[in-house]
Amino acid sequence: MERHQNLKSRLPLYCSFGGLQLSKEPHFDDHQMITVCCCCGTFLTKKLQAFPGDMDHSADASGLLEGSDIGSQKERVVTEEEWLQKWEMGNIGFHKEQRHPLLQKYLDVLLNGRSGLRIFFPLCGKAVEMKWLADMGHTVVGVEVSEQAVKEFFSDHSLPYCEEPVPEISGAKMFQSTSGNISLYCCSIYDLSSSIVGKFDGVWDRGALVAVNPCDRQRYASLMISLVEKNSSYLLVTVSYDPNKHKGPPFYVPESEIKSLFGNCCEIRCLEKVDDFSERHRQWGLDYFLEVLYLLKFVA
Ligand code: SAH
Repeated sequence: MERHQNLKSRLPLYCSFGGLQLSKEPHFDDHQMITVCCCCGTFLTKKLQAFPGDMDHSADASGLLEGSDIGSQKERVVTEEEWLQKWEMGNIGFHKEQRHPLLQKYLDVLLNGRSGLRIFFPLCGKAVEMKWLADMGHTVVGVEVSEQAVKEFFSDHSLPYCEEPVPEISGAKMFQSTSGNISLYCCSIYDLSSSIVGKFDGVWDRGALVAVNPCDRQRYASLMISLVEKNSSYLLVTVSYDPNKHKGPPFYVPESEIKSLFGNCCEIRCLEKVDDFSERHRQWGLDYFLEVLYLLKFVA
């Protein structure tokens, strides 16, 4: 906190109207100074500085952003049928046409100097980064409950593919690019195990843990832990907003929960928090929305 106080005078915050507008004492989060503009109510955040490898001040990061209470989201359940409907209706605001800036920025952290990795995309949708990583020479495996999403992935990228049943999972299919380096399992992630898909050197988890029903998080985390090799790197993107104002998904996942889900098995580092607030989030009734990137490092 003292460190933050020292930085305070050097980090003024401006609202979009240009004035220095601190309506109240700034709240200091791990990496940011956060406050609200008194003229327009804008939620202002300012990155303080990166503290690589230094994430253990969450005890003083309580309050606005790091509350561990997820409110009524705890009980919320989105069924597989509802996810299929979202795809059918084209209600897929979560899908991004551009590569995720945080994956581009932290790709080296994920790869850690290695090539030819097996990289897992849980709850993959039709994430464009799968093609990007495959083009770099990695082997990509995804799992997605919507067959429409899987087929759209291949057609969006004009990639020929073949499909085959997965003998171990009733009703499941595996769609594989003809070149063999992208395999997408069409089934529930909970049907997978390392005996079916093997283990992975890297994971890109964006729109995945945050899309899992809160009551299933423990099951999801245990499964993910069972699917990673020793020495693997797992980039996890969560979102932070006031869970009393939006029912999700994406669901708010507090830092304390990341620690309790994964902390026994890996080192956890918060790499970055970015302001991702947009009109979409304003329409949800929110006044701030952050993306939070963690590195989960599974050691030998
Ligand atoms: N990660 C993707 C998609 C995020 S939305 C991206 O970043 O764009 C979450 C996705 O998970 C949806 O496409 C939904 O159809 C899929 N999904 C939801 N529950 C699932 C489950 N149990 N198993 C596999 N996929 C699931």
